[in-house]
Amino acid sequence: MNRFANRLAAEGLELRRGRPEILQVNVGKLCNLTCVHCHVNAGPKRKEIMRRETVDRIIDWLAKSDISTVDLTGGAPEMIPDFRYFVERVKALRPTRHVIDRCNLTILLERGYEDLAPFLAQNKVEIVASMPCYSPENVNAQRGEGVFDGSIKALQLLNSLGYGVVNDLPLHLVYNPVGAFLPPPQTELEADYKRELRGHFGIIFNKLYTITNLPIARFASYLRHSNKLKEYMQLLIENFNPATIEGLMCRNTISAGWRGEVYDCDFNQQLGMQWENGTGLFLWDIDPNEIDNRKIMTGNHCFGCTAGAGSSCGGALV
Ligand code: SF4
Ligand code: SF4
Repeated sequence: MNRFANRLAAEGLELRRGRPEILQVNVGKLCNLTCVHCHVNAGPKRKEIMRRETVDRIIDWLAKSDISTVDLTGGAPEMIPDFRYFVERVKALRPTRHVIDRCNLTILLERGYEDLAPFLAQNKVEIVASMPCYSPENVNAQRGEGVFDGSIKALQLLNSLGYGVVNDLPLHLVYNPVGAFLPPPQTELEADYKRELRGHFGIIFNKLYTITNLPIARFASYLRHSNKLKEYMQLLIENFNPATIEGLMCRNTISAGWRGEVYDCDFNQQLGMQWENGTGLFLWDIDPNEIDNRKIMTGNHCFGCTAGAGSSCGGALV
């Protein structure tokens, strides 16, 4: 048993799936940025991207399920050639499904992507955008030089299209710490973001999600190089909060990879913890009606989701 599983057992807790409500699809590792905290090790040279036949198989599976939300992530999910095809096919399903795009903002300004923001607005795609700070120094340090200015321009563009302004175009921002510490309280930070972004740049948005960096992939390398990995793990463990278990995203989300393989979450995906049944399972191998109560695969990285106020793709948990 890993330390996280031991801790759950010591607390008399078990981590099992509830009803699946969200399908999160990681369409690949291709990205226009190479952020320090990236848990996907994404970047412009990565070749792993979803092919059209995989998109089709996922849509066929989705059509037979009652999963109401499709959450697209990457990499920069918009960079795969079939991103728009994927969105349009999901949007054509009946009953209708909600689509989320996890967007790094700067992609909206890249050459060749000029019509991406209007496409997202037209298809009523919810945008969850990374914005690790409201000050240029912190954003550029984590995501690269010039990313802050690009993100501000992209947010202004999204506001001009109605994002964050009209009800059916939600725009949420994601904060994650720029170092080896836990996020501050979400509500207070959201108020700071709203005040600063509106005051300095006239930007409005709906919610701020605070997300804890998990000690895996590029963030783990960063911690190792700065000799902080042990200290950070200790911080996560010391702040274990049993009240977060109920709301963990692995309880209501199925995570699929660029080849259609299935995991409990995007972090497990990056660690290669694919579901299996003798052999690795793909989305089309599973029946969404038969996975309630399935035991969730855990590891020491799970302490990142249960520390303090908890962390998920929808922000703090308690
Ligand atoms: S954190 Fe997001 S934007 Fe940054 S490299 Fe990773 S996938 Fe790309
Ligand atoms: S990393 Fe977080 S979301 Fe993933 S299985 Fe562990 S607790 Fe659940």
